Amino acid sequence: MKQIEQRIKKLFMAKGLKRTPQRCAIYEMLTGRTDHPTAEDIYRTVKRTFPMISQNTVYYTLSTLQEAGLISEVNFGHEHARFDANMDRHHHLVCVSCQEINDLYDGTLDRLSMSSKKGRQYTILGHRVEFYGYCKRCQEKSKSSSRSEGRNRRTV
Ligand SMILES: [Zn+2]
Ligand SMILES: [Zn+2]
Repeated sequence: MKQIEQRIKKLFMAKGLKRTPQRCAIYEMLTGRTDHPTAEDIYRTVKRTFPMISQNTVYYTLSTLQEAGLISEVNFGHEHARFDANMDRHHHLVCVSCQEINDLYDGTLDRLSMSSKKGRQYTILGHRVEFYGYCKRCQEKSKSSSRSEGRNRRTV
């Protein structure tokens, strides 16, 4: 048995989850990715190994894994939920243009505390900070496209 399979077996047992091949495949795939795929992406990838798998099974499996605390849903105002199997304490850098989500480790953010009264009424389990902006690739793309626009203007 591969190391990852052994780890999954242990985790699923600890959470009282049945190990169906599809469940294991979905979880294994998610743990191997850092790009926070959508349910649709996950479905397309898992379908290569399990051609008979339905989209419903994928959605159902994702919510089961989420309830078990093995994965989390990353929502940031986009229309599709994205999924993360990285349950270590981390934050996100979100590109508003290409929608890339990058993991960010930052001890200062980990130690954030709440100063508002309202927050203190809650029993806080955790927090995650999301920074929105343009990734390097998108910045370069917009730089080069505004350069070519400038060229076009000059030639007109
Ligand atoms: Zn981007
Ligand atoms: Zn993440």
